[in-house]
Amino acid sequence: MLAENEIAKRLQDVRDRIAHAATRARRRPDAIRLVLASKTQPAAAIRAAYEAGARDFGENYIQEAAAKRAELADLRDVTWHLIGHLQSNKTALAVGTFDVIQTLDSVRLADAIGRLRPAPPMRALIEINLGGEANKSGIPASEAQSLIEGARDKTDIIGLMTIPPHTENARRYFAELRTLRDRLAASSGLALSELSMGMTEDFEVAIEEGATMVRVGRAVFGERPA
Ligand SMILES: *Cc1c(COP(=O)(O)O)cnc(C)c1O
Repeated sequence: MLAENEIAKRLQDVRDRIAHAATRARRRPDAIRLVLASKTQPAAAIRAAYEAGARDFGENYIQEAAAKRAELADLRDVTWHLIGHLQSNKTALAVGTFDVIQTLDSVRLADAIGRLRPAPPMRALIEINLGGEANKSGIPASEAQSLIEGARDKTDIIGLMTIPPHTENARRYFAELRTLRDRLAASSGLALSELSMGMTEDFEVAIEEGATMVRVGRAVFGERPA
């Protein structure tokens, strides 16, 4: 793990870059939420980022996240985001651990979440697999409308999330997610105000294309422990 002051310094650097990207795009910097992707990082690294002002953390693995959340139970006002795939047999632990599920990908999962957390409903983003990659989770854009219709009474669907294919041209996928969101918002009547897109390599481009949440790991925490 990096030293605490190094994490604080890198966090400030990422915040500055977010502010610059927002200004370039004529957006308000506070319209972009920085979600720190903390998978495989020790609880102490999360605590260091918290001390430096971070309040949103994204975790991929349910058990790991539950253990860290317990270890960090004294931290106030933290929002925990699930950014990894959710298997149905882990739904109960996930609902007990996370405040936002960014990887909703089936009506059946929404049903299970809704039963476990009827009110207030769980905030959820639908994960869209824009590149049609078999090794990535999420649903094709063409299935988003029916998922929204089937899940909207069980969860509070606040937007869309994507992990685009690894290419030089992530911008095109970010723009595609925004266009899809605009279309789905119009057809569903939901605001779908959140667009979760952009990571260490490309968060500034994502902000230029409308991201409201960027998920950044290595730029703040350094390389992940193996
Ligand atoms: C790990 C991860 C990130 C952050 O990746 P970095 O390259 O470390 O910024 C973002 N989103 C998801 C879904 C991840 O799993």
